[in-house]
Amino acid sequence: MSPSSSKPGPMDPSSPIQFLSGVGPARATKLTKLGIFTVLDLLWHCPRSYMDRSKLTALADLEEDTKVTAIVQVEKVRSRRAQRGQTIVEVDLIDDRGGRGGAIWFNQAYLARSLVAGRRVLLHGKVARYRGSRLQFQAPEFELLDKVDPAQGELERGRATPAQRYPGRSGPATPPRPLHGGRVVPLYSLTAGITQKQIRVWVQTALEKCGDALVDVIPEAVRTRYGYPALRPCFERIHFPRSIPDAEEARVRLAFEEYLLLQLALGWLKYERAQNSVAPALPGTGELDTKLREDLPFALTQGQEGVLEDIRSDMALERPMSRLLQGDVGSGKTIVAALAAATALENDAQVAFMAPTEILALQQGESFSRWFAPLGRRVEVLIGRTGAADRRRILSGLATGSIDVVVGTHALQESKVGFRKLGLVVVDEQHRFGVMQRARLAEKGKAPHCLVMSATPIPRTLSLTLHGDLDLSLLMEKPPGRIPPKSYLVPPKKREGLLQFVADLARGGERAFFVYPLVEESEQTDLKDATSMKEQLSAHPAFVGVTIGLLHGRMKGEEKEEAIRRFREGETPCLVSTTVVEVGVDIPQATVMVVEHPERFGLSQLHQLRGRVGRGGGESHFFMMAPSNLAEETKARLDVMTKEDSGFAVAEADLRLRGPGSLLGTAQHGIPTLRVADLVSQEDVLLQAREVAGKILSADPRLDQSVNEGLRTAVLARHEESFSFLKIG
Ligand code: ADP
Ligand code: MG
Repeated sequence: MSPSSSKPGPMDPSSPIQFLSGVGPARATKLTKLGIFTVLDLLWHCPRSYMDRSKLTALADLEEDTKVTAIVQVEKVRSRRAQRGQTIVEVDLIDDRGGRGGAIWFNQAYLARSLVAGRRVLLHGKVARYRGSRLQFQAPEFELLDKVDPAQGELERGRATPAQRYPGRSGPATPPRPLHGGRVVPLYSLTAGITQKQIRVWVQTALEKCGDALVDVIPEAVRTRYGYPALRPCFERIHFPRSIPDAEEARVRLAFEEYLLLQLALGWLKYERAQNSVAPALPGTGELDTKLREDLPFALTQGQEGVLEDIRSDMALERPMSRLLQGDVGSGKTIVAALAAATALENDAQVAFMAPTEILALQQGESFSRWFAPLGRRVEVLIGRTGAADRRRILSGLATGSIDVVVGTHALQESKVGFRKLGLVVVDEQHRFGVMQRARLAEKGKAPHCLVMSATPIPRTLSLTLHGDLDLSLLMEKPPGRIPPKSYLVPPKKREGLLQFVADLARGGERAFFVYPLVEESEQTDLKDATSMKEQLSAHPAFVGVTIGLLHGRMKGEEKEEAIRRFREGETPCLVSTTVVEVGVDIPQATVMVVEHPERFGLSQLHQLRGRVGRGGGESHFFMMAPSNLAEETKARLDVMTKEDSGFAVAEADLRLRGPGSLLGTAQHGIPTLRVADLVSQEDVLLQAREVAGKILSADPRLDQSVNEGLRTAVLARHEESFSFLKIG
């Protein structure tokens, strides 16, 4: 039931997809799995790749064991039953040049009803001899060519006979171009119950029905400047390109549009935040800064000083800071945050520091107490398991202002936590939080200055995409004297030797982590798990006299703390752990890490893990213990770790190999879905879009002007969630 079928004029591209002829409600439901709700969504469902089937082969030129495409006419159809109840459909073919050939299908009896004598069809498939017979197409894909009918799918399944549909129908004078061959053919991501052929047919129908109604949101001046085609030819070229380079050009134009809308959204959000909020200006006095530095056993690196300067000049203004401090693991971000906190405290403002795990919150809380308590400032830690009485005391201290710094986990975001004067919010390991959480804590005060820190050194494209609304400071340099851990991929036959080596180091006073992907033995997999490996290693002859500790996420908070303390102090010089040690844990004495099943981790995650060792200045080792059946591809991926020390290089490789989702982990909810744009290969397009967005917004920051109406509508539609969250009208 298409509302537009009887009406003249083009179909509205925002119509629900079910109304596109040939789709209907049942298939529309399936298409939602592909993110396709409207006809326009279908057009944005761009091919993931192409097959070049533009070369047609004449029947006279068929060769054994080749895969070819041909346009032929059906001469005769035979259907018969073979042994074991198989149905065989055999067809005699003829082509325009008088060549002859055949095709054979097994167990598709209904084909006999579509492939009647006289029909023109396009065939694509392998040519071979079946049981020594003539050369023929073996179960080829086919497309009926002598009619245009979106219900073709039905015909192929035999619900209508060609006699009902085919003869006497006034088709177009010239046969239509074939869709599934004789050209570059698109291949789409699919979902159960939807075929490539269906999508191709629907896309073609959508272009016919809606083509004239497609609105180009990219301003014409911009399109002209960069030589981008209009939207309709763009869709035509990406779905049905004349050649593969032709499609790539169209893809760039569509990617540009996606990036443009995203950058406009981010810029607009940033503007709204700046407009709607005034922060306390915190110029600082330098007094606490000086005192704190006197107590430090080291001097700040130039990189740290530079970043701190960025932060301080932001904090001195009434415009709330939104800054991302990105620095590789171990680059020393914590002390930078502490000195920024000192500036806030000098102006009698409070500081909230949020960490993603309890372990980390406790560790950072300890550091902050060590730094600030001697200066007469009160630091408290608030986490999920803080007892009721303590919680009450802390909440009241924050409300009255007697507590200066609170360090905590998500617990800080609870609505009951109120401050007297919150001046600075620091979010550590920001990639572990969603974008939403980052914003929620910032709502606490009137508008505190906000510093988010991340050790996942994400490539620039991703950073601009995820954090385009933040100012960026990079900490590239590590504290002096650091030697990067030596990294190895260890084959199974060297396992025993490795265990001996680690045990000897442990006996010599060093600390070693063993990291496993699972907490407990699981019946589904034969992966090694932390709990049973602790037992196994403890019983291993190499570890005689070495006590081994255990740490995993299911332990109670106090137990975790105790396990870390015992490790730090050397009571258990080996610690078997899950990835709870991944973020932030700072134990300078740790010099060895052994990761089992490294193939289960992303590269950036391995880099984070590796960042737990080599913090003390001496030599350190990172061993990835490979299982015996490691695939070549996986080995190549893990080899990146043995070659690259820099988190940026590792992240680039990870992004290339596994895409942005896995790079950031499941905790990252902030990745905008990009349908066409490719963060790996299209950095130049992104930068172009960013520049254009900047120009548009500097003249019209809220896209209010009538020339920008189309853009405004598109931005709001595409990034609805971000805007509803900030309650922008
Ligand atoms: P990350 O950036 O991963 O959060 P941390 O802040 O935990 O790193 O710092 C890692 C280690 O480096 C800590 O033990 C810290 O005391 C030390 N550190 C930080 N800055 C310097 C510096 N300028 N010189 C020497 N050591 C430093
Ligand atoms: Mg850190």
